[in-house]
This record gives sequence, C-alpha cells and structure tokens, in this order.
Amino acid sequence: MKPGVRCHFVRDSGCSIYETRPDSPCRQFECGWVGSDSPFPDSFKPTKLGVIVIKTTWRGQLAYRLAFGGRDLDAGELEWMMNFSRQTGRPFFYEKAGETLGYGPQAFIEDMQTKIQRGIPLFESHAASR
Ligand code: SF4
Repeated sequence: MKPGVRCHFVRDSGCSIYETRPDSPCRQFECGWVGSDSPFPDSFKPTKLGVIVIKTTWRGQLAYRLAFGGRDLDAGELEWMMNFSRQTGRPFFYEKAGETLGYGPQAFIEDMQTKIQRGIPLFESHAASR
C-alpha cells in the first residue's frame, strides 16, 4: 500500500479486509463528500465523480483537495467548485493532467506561492497523489 498505487486489497465489492483494515491510512481517512455537513452534491460522490474529495485546512479553516481518482474534474465540475469557493471563501486544490493547481482567495494564492518558493508541501494529507 503506497500513494499513487491502487491498493491490492481492493475488489469490485470494495475493501476485502474491511474489518481488519489498518489504522493508517484507511481508518484515519475522512472522505470530504460524506457527512451530514457535506456541502457537496450527490454527483460529487467519489465513485461517480472519479475524484476524491479530501478535507484539509488553510489558516485554520476548512479547505479541500480534489484528488485524482481515475479522472480530472470536467469544466462544469470545476466551475461548481470555483463558485463554491467564492461563496464560502474556502480554497481548494485540484489536479489537471497530473499537475496540482489551487483556487481560492488572493491570500491563499500568495501563501501557496510562498510555500512553492520555500519548497514546503502545499497541503498535509495521507491520501494518495499520482
Ligand atoms: S480500506 Fe485500506 S486496505 Fe481496504 S482497500 Fe482501501 S486502502 Fe486498501
């Protein structure tokens, strides 16, 4: 089990060792789409979207990472996220052709540019990257 590689316990029906799956990353992972407070529509369910919604933080507030799960967001889905970000002030990361991009308030963009210059990871997450 390692980032960017499909877990060998995955079956068509789901996790084949679900009851005994490891604590990290499996039990610690919190899907950003699930939950009564989820702002995302049904169409953003990762198995439908092909993109995994992962909660992260920026300056102590909620932010999201939309990680490759088989495909990238299409133009309409990305527009939904951008509208959501403008309405809530929550920034997000997304992937396009293997590149990680970000969208959010100007201060978020500036913070990310500073991190890139200093070689600091853009986000903290145990979820896989391509
Ligand atoms: S829950 Fe963990 S062990 Fe099970 S399929 Fe997913 S990554 Fe693999």
